[in-house]
Amino acid sequence: MSYHANERGYYGEFGGAYIPEMLYPNCEELRQNYIRIMEEPAFQEEFQQLLKDYVGRPTPLYFAERLSEKYNTKIYLKREDLCHTGAHKVNNTIGQILMAKKLGKNRIIAETGAGQHGVATATVCALMGIECVVYMGEIDIARQAPNVARMKMLGAEVRAAKSGSRTLKDATNEAIRDWINNPVNTHYIIGSVVGPHPYPDMVARFQSVISEEVKSQLQEKEGRKNPDYVVACVGGGSNAAGIYYHYLDTPEVGIIAVEAAGKGIHSGESAATSALGKVGIIHGSKTLLMQTGDGQITEPYSISAGLDYPGVGPMHAHLFRSGRGEFLSITDDEAMTAGLELSQMEGIIPAIETSHAFAIFDYKKFEKDNVVVVNLSGRGDKDLQTYIDYFKL
Ligand SMILES: *Cc1c(COP(=O)(O)O)cnc(C)c1O
Repeated sequence: MSYHANERGYYGEFGGAYIPEMLYPNCEELRQNYIRIMEEPAFQEEFQQLLKDYVGRPTPLYFAERLSEKYNTKIYLKREDLCHTGAHKVNNTIGQILMAKKLGKNRIIAETGAGQHGVATATVCALMGIECVVYMGEIDIARQAPNVARMKMLGAEVRAAKSGSRTLKDATNEAIRDWINNPVNTHYIIGSVVGPHPYPDMVARFQSVISEEVKSQLQEKEGRKNPDYVVACVGGGSNAAGIYYHYLDTPEVGIIAVEAAGKGIHSGESAATSALGKVGIIHGSKTLLMQTGDGQITEPYSISAGLDYPGVGPMHAHLFRSGRGEFLSITDDEAMTAGLELSQMEGIIPAIETSHAFAIFDYKKFEKDNVVVVNLSGRGDKDLQTYIDYFKL
């Protein structure tokens, strides 16, 4: 049994492409071409070159000595926080902008919630000199002003979604509407392993560079390619998919996914999708999502904007349902404390999303000689004000 997507984009019962007929040509063009294009030597050469010279890859695999001593196990950090723009998201946007060019597209659209994916998209559009429109909820535009400014500085147009709750899902609806109206010249860059097939598989493949590097880096440091555990926070699930990818079908490597419990799983204010979610369809994909009894999507909550999503990608729904992955949920308070600890014990200030992954060491005990690789998905600069307010720094 494989934990990768099948040809129709299913991970077990999850995934697929549940899309309106008007979107079919767009998704079908991508579906028919993405693997062929990704496997072209010229594509790989350009992708690898940009990852190296522009993104700054390979990112280091760092042995966290003080943290390891405290928790009595071997903890390695995969330093995605050192990527250009401060997180893993750019691995995917670089891949997709090259894909868009191969498909002959000259216009890019994207949706963004916290603005991180919008910035990563605006960045690669500037790099390639391609027109960029980012849809963002009106409320998010107001609360994420620095990222809105970054996108504008990079030359992107930020369009406000003014319907519904005026947040991420409404921005996504606007982006889909745009794509339906511009099927020929426009590519839609989705920012995580969500959406209709082939997006989850395509994004996972672009992010898989993370675990590919871990394999050779661990071989060098530990004399073996496989750690005992890989750990990542899960919003939509792209940084997690990246660090799990080459270990999905290696059962001796444990997979740990960390979700945001917000103010507590049963507080009514959380984003703990596996704990609370039921099977449903969101953004073209069958997956687990938080919903009311009559199927309305519940507004998620987390102190970290990047984990504030009501669903998870279909890969993660399958990892949860099949038992291949162990899912833990971490509250705002636990994450903030873990973020402060990483800052003061290793001199690395993590994004609050990432802090969730570090909080598990207080709950889950590992063996002394276990090798545990945590994906350090992003740096904390963007979250400084939240840390300052929380700790009264
Ligand atoms: C966006 C983001 C996440 C959550 O997105 P995934 O697709 O689940 O990886 C996690 N960490 C950081 C730093 C982010 O910017």
